[in-house]
Amino acid sequence: MSKILGSCLCGKVSFESNNSFEQFHLCHCIQCQKTTGSAHASNLFTSPDNIKWLSGLEFVKRFDVPGRAISKAFCTECGCGVPYLSGSGQALVIPAGCLDDKPDIDPQDNIFCSEKAKWYEKGIGAKQFEKFPD
Ligand SMILES: [Zn+2]
Ligand SMILES: [Zn+2]
Repeated sequence: MSKILGSCLCGKVSFESNNSFEQFHLCHCIQCQKTTGSAHASNLFTSPDNIKWLSGLEFVKRFDVPGRAISKAFCTECGCGVPYLSGSGQALVIPAGCLDDKPDIDPQDNIFCSEKAKWYEKGIGAKQFEKFPD
């Protein structure tokens, strides 16, 4: 089983998982827009024990949205999203952006599209540059 590494932006938090994920959802719900500060969350799902924290667990803080099965875990130093146990405890949710390599599955679907950011579709079609444009 190949391993995949993950880390936060400042590097204090790091972990390792088996690169075998069951689900990969892009969630466009309003709460995911808030927790990511972006158009959607990109969440991988795996078994709860598929993680070995390598460093910085003491920097990980968790926020549970009251009354909803939505949570966010992040590095208190840099704010980067990091893995957390789902509300039911049945799955480990790994924000794909904190992985340092490619997960073994591609996104399967876009969910909560009824709440999609109003500017999302326009963004997909916008001009593309390899780097910051001159
Ligand atoms: Zn950090
Ligand atoms: Zn969501």
